[in-house]
Amino acid sequence: MIPAEFDYVAASSLEDALRLLGEHGDEAKLLAGGHSLIPLMKFRLAAPSVLVDISRLPELRTLRPSDGHLRLGAGLRIRDLELSPVVREQVPLLAAAAASVGDRQVRARATVGGTVVHGDPAADIPAVLVTLDATLVLRGPAGERELSAAEFFVDFWETACGLDEVLVEIVVPALPGRRWAFEKFRQRSQDWATVGVAVQETADGEHAVGLVNMAPVPWRASPVEDALRSGAAVPEAAGHAAEGAAPPSDLRGDSAYRAHLAQVLTAKALTTAGAGS
Ligand SMILES: Cc1cc2nc3c(=O)[nH]c(=O)nc-3n(C[C@H](O)[C@H](O)[C@H](O)COP(=O)(O)OP(=O)(O)OC[C@H]3O[C@@H](n4cnc5c(N)ncnc54)[C@H](O)[C@@H]3O)c2cc1C
Repeated sequence: MIPAEFDYVAASSLEDALRLLGEHGDEAKLLAGGHSLIPLMKFRLAAPSVLVDISRLPELRTLRPSDGHLRLGAGLRIRDLELSPVVREQVPLLAAAAASVGDRQVRARATVGGTVVHGDPAADIPAVLVTLDATLVLRGPAGERELSAAEFFVDFWETACGLDEVLVEIVVPALPGRRWAFEKFRQRSQDWATVGVAVQETADGEHAVGLVNMAPVPWRASPVEDALRSGAAVPEAAGHAAEGAAPPSDLRGDSAYRAHLAQVLTAKALTTAGAGS
């Protein structure tokens, strides 16, 4: 459980972080909260020779309302999202999902950017970002580019963030007063989700549905949304929750159990979020 030897550099600015990434290429890794990267290094699943610490950069810890959206700096702690009055009022689904992550110590260190770039389909916030149709803003040597959350998550632990890029912002729609629900089934109080479900009433009154831990990527349950759109009642629509997904089998449950759980939790979440009423 001891990582391979590495050098540590604290970036003095975002530009400095980009310069260091350019200088060290695929030998370098950004360090944010370290709650995913350091365990991977201890298991020797990752062995970067340089860690570039971006955890103290104020330019990554901004939170700005902008044109009907919230722009969240990638360096915000998960606890910042949980406690921010603006996030709680404008995007309560995101605040609720943040509050469900790990324990208070994890949330106080781990960042929203870290959980997004790590790309674990069992993580809660990525599924919420897919549900919200969030936009991810990346900065690299060639400037900035924007990707939808659906484009960003490529495969298990794989995202579209390049080795020479920094995720700088996450843009989510402000949806004050819209109904939502977040259901997370876990065996013990601070476990990761066996399955999770996020439901958000959109600005035009439809319901978007995202699933945690039901596929190699955070999963948008489009068949549920299509069924609701064509007038299906909640139980019937929720029956489509696992359609097209590829739930994993592990010690917490096999894929058939997860598929069933997804249907049950989706029905509950849709009802809470006022779908079909
Ligand atoms: C005990 C424990 C319990 C947990 N429980 C949960 C849970 O219930 N639900 C859940 O969703 N998660 C859970 N987590 C995971 C935790 O939320 C993630 O470890 C964390 O979000 C990763 O963020 P970080 O800031 O620590 O990232 P780091 O570990 O620092 O980095 C992760 C990866 O992202 C890259 N990276 C980080 N920031 C950027 C950036 N801005 N731009 C580009 N690349 C970047 C790093 O290079 C690295 O590859 C748990 C973790 C622990 C240790």
